[in-house]
Amino acid sequence: MSERLERVAAHIPAGARLADIGSDHGYLLVALMTRGVIAAAVAGEVALTPFHAAQRTVRENGLSQRIAVRLANGLAAIEPEDRISAISLCGMGGETIRDILDRDKARLTGYERLILQPNGGEQPLRQWLMDNGYRILHEEVLRENRFNYEIIVAERTGPVRYSTQELYFGPLQLQKRSPAFLAKWQRLLHLKRRTLTHFAQARQAVPEDKVQELTQQVGWIVELL
Ligand code: SAM
Repeated sequence: MSERLERVAAHIPAGARLADIGSDHGYLLVALMTRGVIAAAVAGEVALTPFHAAQRTVRENGLSQRIAVRLANGLAAIEPEDRISAISLCGMGGETIRDILDRDKARLTGYERLILQPNGGEQPLRQWLMDNGYRILHEEVLRENRFNYEIIVAERTGPVRYSTQELYFGPLQLQKRSPAFLAKWQRLLHLKRRTLTHFAQARQAVPEDKVQELTQQVGWIVELL
């Protein structure tokens, strides 16, 4: 498995009944089941090619009796009888993960641990978590193959409030200020400043709210660093 999925795997509780939504090849579930970490598993895939790939990985590892592979959109892969205790959604945009969670909120018992690995769009995802009473228990940034990845682990605890900056940077990352986190924002600061310069030089007018939003973000990042 990639370092990214290894870091995700580290946050799956021992004995979990795990649903991995958007499982693609099913590597995460197969690795966790083979290692004896999880007790039951559902792989959910919306697209046929990755669905077949997951079926093949599970079959080739002799785990067809222990990992259910289902062709389904988002949380529709989960049935109450699965008694799922953890859900992973990895390698998708934060907005996509948010939409998957929001569309079928009724399928969540509220007792599942969510292990999320968005590729961008972390702010709207954190907003959804806050709006739905999920507290962020762990966050990390990692860099692999020249990409930054974030991992967000959350559980529903009841009302929780995060500030605008906490939603933007991540409440725990703001406290921890890890080298990977600071390096990510150093890079983004450079990119956002460059975009602002391009905006200023653009022949066509750039919408004022876009410029304001970017300027505010640059201000926050400068404050952070
Ligand atoms: N989770 C794996 C990982 O992190 O390596 C695979 C990530 S892959 C880039 C994203 C997968 O999510 C694709 O296989 C895609 O078909 C699947 N996917 C996207 N939207 C989905 C949805 N609504 N329900 C189930 N799967 C979805």
